Amino acid sequence: MNEDLPGILRKHGVLLEGHFLLASGRHSARYFEKFRILEHPQLCETFSRTIADRFRDDDISVVCGPTTGGIIIAYEVARQLGTRCVIAEPADRGRRIGRGFQVNGDDRVLVVDDVMTTGGSIVDTLAALRSYPGRVAGIGVFIDRSGGSSRLQQPYFAVYEQSVETFPEEDCPLCRDGMPLTKPGRSSDSARGS
Ligand SMILES: [Zn+2]
Repeated sequence: MNEDLPGILRKHGVLLEGHFLLASGRHSARYFEKFRILEHPQLCETFSRTIADRFRDDDISVVCGPTTGGIIIAYEVARQLGTRCVIAEPADRGRRIGRGFQVNGDDRVLVVDDVMTTGGSIVDTLAALRSYPGRVAGIGVFIDRSGGSSRLQQPYFAVYEQSVETFPEEDCPLCRDGMPLTKPGRSSDSARGS
């Protein structure tokens, strides 16, 4: 994508700037509302194309995404690459590849997700895929806000990287400046970073 990505993300309400109370209880000056991308299929298509282009020469045969946002992205990236699409859904512990989806020994899997925060949903998806003989050939996300803290062994690509500094309430410069605190709208699902 050679357009002004931060501008596009601000325009669509994906990248919010202010004073936010995060699910972790910490405060930050930035917040990514990933569902603002997913509600615009054309924006989702554009982001997905950037991921698809990055892995187009890697013989990907399956794209796998974790619920909820990851399903939409996996479907769109798979559509663009002409591959299959499978879903990693929550299980009693971590995630599982259910619904009769199969990943075979000759499959090369691309794992995709919306926002990389701590990497939890991607790590759980990789763990679920280890029950199958296929090989994970890459990982692609729309937005990486982890600041490089996630350590993944497979080739990794983020369409947009922006680390988000967070503060404990007692040491928050925005609180000191008296800026009103906002709790971004989110479901319990996105609060877990899935
Ligand atoms: Zn604060």
